[in-house]
Amino acid sequence: MERKMIIGIDLGTTNSLVSVWMPDNGIVMIPNRYGDTLTPSVVGLDDTGQVIVGKSARERLLTHPDQTVALIKRHMGEDVSFLLGEEVYRPEELSAYILKSLKQDAETYLGEEVTQCMISVPAYFTNVQRQATQAAAKIAGLEVVRLINEPTAAALAYGIQEETDCQYLVLDLGGGTFDVTLLDYFETVLSVNSSSGDKKLGGEDFTLAIVDYIVQNIQVEESSLSAKDRIKIRNAAEYLKHSLSDHEEVETRIQLEAGEQKIMLSRFTFMRISEELLNRIKKTIIRTIRDAEVKLDEIEKVILVGGSSRIAIYKDFIKSLLKKEPELKINIDESICVGVTVAVELKNENPAFGEVILTDVAPHSLGIEISKRTSHGWASGVFSSIIDRNSFVPCSFEKSYSTIEPYQPSIQFDIYQGESLEVKQNLKIGSLTIPLTPKQETQSATVRFTYDINGVLLVDIQSDETGHSVQSVLIQNESMMKDLDVTRSISKLQEIKKENPFESTNEHLLAWASRLYQEVPSHYAYSIENAIMEFKAILENGSLPLKKKAQRQLKDFLQQMEQHTIDVLS
Ligand code: AMP
Repeated sequence: MERKMIIGIDLGTTNSLVSVWMPDNGIVMIPNRYGDTLTPSVVGLDDTGQVIVGKSARERLLTHPDQTVALIKRHMGEDVSFLLGEEVYRPEELSAYILKSLKQDAETYLGEEVTQCMISVPAYFTNVQRQATQAAAKIAGLEVVRLINEPTAAALAYGIQEETDCQYLVLDLGGGTFDVTLLDYFETVLSVNSSSGDKKLGGEDFTLAIVDYIVQNIQVEESSLSAKDRIKIRNAAEYLKHSLSDHEEVETRIQLEAGEQKIMLSRFTFMRISEELLNRIKKTIIRTIRDAEVKLDEIEKVILVGGSSRIAIYKDFIKSLLKKEPELKINIDESICVGVTVAVELKNENPAFGEVILTDVAPHSLGIEISKRTSHGWASGVFSSIIDRNSFVPCSFEKSYSTIEPYQPSIQFDIYQGESLEVKQNLKIGSLTIPLTPKQETQSATVRFTYDINGVLLVDIQSDETGHSVQSVLIQNESMMKDLDVTRSISKLQEIKKENPFESTNEHLLAWASRLYQEVPSHYAYSIENAIMEFKAILENGSLPLKKKAQRQLKDFLQQMEQHTIDVLS
């Protein structure tokens, strides 16, 4: 029987990727309809109200902010909704658009229907966030054969399976988060030893540090900066940050309403203004290593993933902190997706990939709310953990609990995840009630928690008295989607606009040009306006070869325009 194709997906905050293993080509990153392997994780509407995903949606973020949604991953598992045109969407539904777009690209590339996938999620993702990711896939018409932790995928991409037993430290510095994971590879078993992170620290903070530096060093009062000035400063800061990854010192000119401003920035100054951020990075790394009770010299390899790993001062900082040259050998943006496909092939028992058994740990404790008897009476709202944080997954544990009053008709079990002894500090993820035959005597029930490899929790409650009143329920957060909602979401999802690569390139170029038109100084704006008009005229009247030539010329011109706002010194 022919085996079903399973695609590997990195569903990222900024960009998403899809890949597959092919017998003749190995792991292949699947290009989207533009021929790019990175699909921006942005969903939007075009001028006719059709849903667009990726590059063309991203270009409209600035010009059509109310018709575009980005950074959806940050809201997975939250009970929030986003208005897109006239329709309200949950984060799962918006993610489903991205997944559907990746699925379609994979189907076009492979020439066959794809219904199964493996998706990577951050190691710190809670049960609720993992279920939201699975719901998104279901809406997109994909069955998730497994969710895999991103650092585990990164280690697989770096060929951990070819190594001898060792400890790996994976540092993931993305746009908005920093995750540190210590992986343990022992006798073909790869497990997450410990994992922690700072959810409010990423490349964006380095950009903001430069923004502050610019604001302090220009000859304009901060209070007199317009909203447009601020956007220009932010863009200039982002350019400076990127350029400093390849150069020691850079210079930029920014055209503000009060006049042109010149800014110089060296790596040395960048290091100084980022000191607080680097210290937070250090703290998170040290905490993770301490949690695992591992010594620094036991760490064999340090792997950097995430787009911000390109920041030179960060790489230098890590090298001097860990006394090791960090590894960054694969195309950074692709490494997690490559690792997901390695995991797919390990699951398929592909002999080309050897044997690695993947295990995970529960990122949070899971338990229930109880009342505890004290010398002063009952204390309520106490958290009783059934599965402790960092337990190996899959696992199954049970505990027995008793009624606290005579003739109790039932016991309600409120289920929480978190580390606090007080349930109100933890996250409630569900509730389950078991009916009893009311009796004078104390009655008990056994609660079994089974945590599967995808981080999904199964709760089983059995009355010890009758023995047969067993309940088995997959607990879902109240904010989570029920099966019924998933069916409704599937029908709500519109067709993603079938973009013709030629026409969508035109739209993309025009959206890019109109963004630049708003950003550049007025003397450049004039030439952009001319270029737009000329391009539109050729699209209306020109022959196909002429149109293609005009596309190339406009692209070169816009790239030059982007560069005009920045001059690299060295
Ligand atoms: P990710 O979420 O992993 O895609 O990372 C996105 C972050 O990487 C953003 O904050 C970007 O500014 C940052 N980034 C991408 N390329 C570079 C570069 N060449 N130098 C510095 N930061 C970069």
